[in-house]
Amino acid sequence: MKLENIVKKQIKNLPVYETGKPIEYVAREFGLDPDGILKMASNENPLGASPKALEAISKSFGDLNRYPDGGCYELRQKLSKKWNLTPAQFAFGNGSNELLEFIAQCFVGEGDETVFGAQSFIVYKLATIFMGGKCVSVPMPNLKYDLDALRDAVTDKTKVVFMTNPNNPTGAVLKQDEVVNFVKSLPEHVVFCYDEAYAEYQDEEVDLRPLIAEGRHVVCLRTFSKIYGLAGLRIGYAYTSEELAGYINRAREPFNVNSLAQIGALAALDDTEFLEKCRKMNNAGRKQFEEAFEKLGFEYFSDGANFVMVKVENAPDVYVQMQKRGVIVRPNVGYGLPDWLRITIDTPEGNARCIEELAKFAK
Ligand SMILES: *Cc1c(COP(=O)(O)O)cnc(C)c1O
Repeated sequence: MKLENIVKKQIKNLPVYETGKPIEYVAREFGLDPDGILKMASNENPLGASPKALEAISKSFGDLNRYPDGGCYELRQKLSKKWNLTPAQFAFGNGSNELLEFIAQCFVGEGDETVFGAQSFIVYKLATIFMGGKCVSVPMPNLKYDLDALRDAVTDKTKVVFMTNPNNPTGAVLKQDEVVNFVKSLPEHVVFCYDEAYAEYQDEEVDLRPLIAEGRHVVCLRTFSKIYGLAGLRIGYAYTSEELAGYINRAREPFNVNSLAQIGALAALDDTEFLEKCRKMNNAGRKQFEEAFEKLGFEYFSDGANFVMVKVENAPDVYVQMQKRGVIVRPNVGYGLPDWLRITIDTPEGNARCIEELAKFAK
């Protein structure tokens, strides 16, 4: 029998996630020196990793023969103080991406629906399809959430509503009241998964802990991949009710978060100086892009997180042309936004170089 008739249909139907193009790939493809390539495609931290995390990790190589602590004890204690929650309210993942999969595994089955924005993180879709669920993706006019439409898409079959704030890939930001009122409008049979991958870039963070305390089914996700600069280590966490954290814990394998990731994350949480520096540079970089886009006459969307969206004619071609010049940005074809490029905010010099290349495509 042919393998394609044996494999589960949800695997066959699954689109493959396209990551930001790695520097090495572009170097090979276009014969460029990797050191001269600027990657602004995956919302990584242009200032590197948290120095405190690097220092802590460099002292821990001697213990790599040991399994990591599957319970992430120290990190759990530290986070429980930071957030004023109990240690049992946390769950850890190999990146918050893995936590999204666990949440789908816990709550989504054949015929169940999940609801999310059409221009929102594609992993919500992948995790749902993987579990045999049905995706209900809700249009986002002008690249922003339409909360009424999102609410209207919820039915008796809805198991999970996913939301990123600030949203990826558009960067649209929702305020505390908007999110809270939305969650309060959801029926009780729905789990609200609130993805906060970029929350630390905002001056005001949304706080859903009161909703968790009220007993609503809310799970918030954080990552060390973005502002902490530890994307290569793969670690993120969920904070939620003890019950929901317990279900996530059952879905994971015993040692899903490696020891260096735990050590790095623990140290990074104390690196407030680094976070402040990143935030400041990001705010300045956003202004730099906005001013340049105005001057060059590009339509753009810039709100929160560490990236901006710009509309260019023949965006897929511009994407390739820029790579030849050593600048990697992110196309949005997969999000139904073929004219838009997403650009991760870099250092002032990196931004200037990107702007210079983009300027060649101004009308
Ligand atoms: C980057 C990102 C994540 C998670 O990344 P991990 O590296 O897996 O922690 C999650 N959600 C959104 C919206 C992201 O942009």
